[in-house]
Amino acid sequence: MSNSDGAAPTTGSAPTVYGAVLDASTRCIHFHSERDIVAIKFACCRRYYPCFQCHDEAVRRELSPHTARQWPQAEWSELAILCGACHRQLSITEYRQVDRCPHCAAEFNPGCRLHGHLYFDESD
Ligand SMILES: [Zn+2]
Ligand SMILES: [Zn+2]
Ligand SMILES: [Zn+2]
Repeated sequence: MSNSDGAAPTTGSAPTVYGAVLDASTRCIHFHSERDIVAIKFACCRRYYPCFQCHDEAVRRELSPHTARQWPQAEWSELAILCGACHRQLSITEYRQVDRCPHCAAEFNPGCRLHGHLYFDESD
């Protein structure tokens, strides 16, 4: 089965974003406001998805579904955030310190912070 999504190839080495992606800025069927432009790499499968719902729906269709794992703080230096506007990657630490992309200045959705615990292990 091919998983071609028909999206235009992005320049350079931008990683593939999986899930129910609607456009080149990684908006998905769940979150698609003007500022929902980041995709997150999941610690469990090292794949980029636009949101945790995309991740869960995609892995549920796999032969051996897995549960999403949050990034432990020790790994927050990992490049795990993809800016959908310029397709450059940020580390988790970097992403948590900015409200816009440091590369292209696109604004990130402040609402995403409310979901931080779904992607990053914030306990210490
Ligand atoms: Zn996963
Ligand atoms: Zn989604
Ligand atoms: Zn950017």
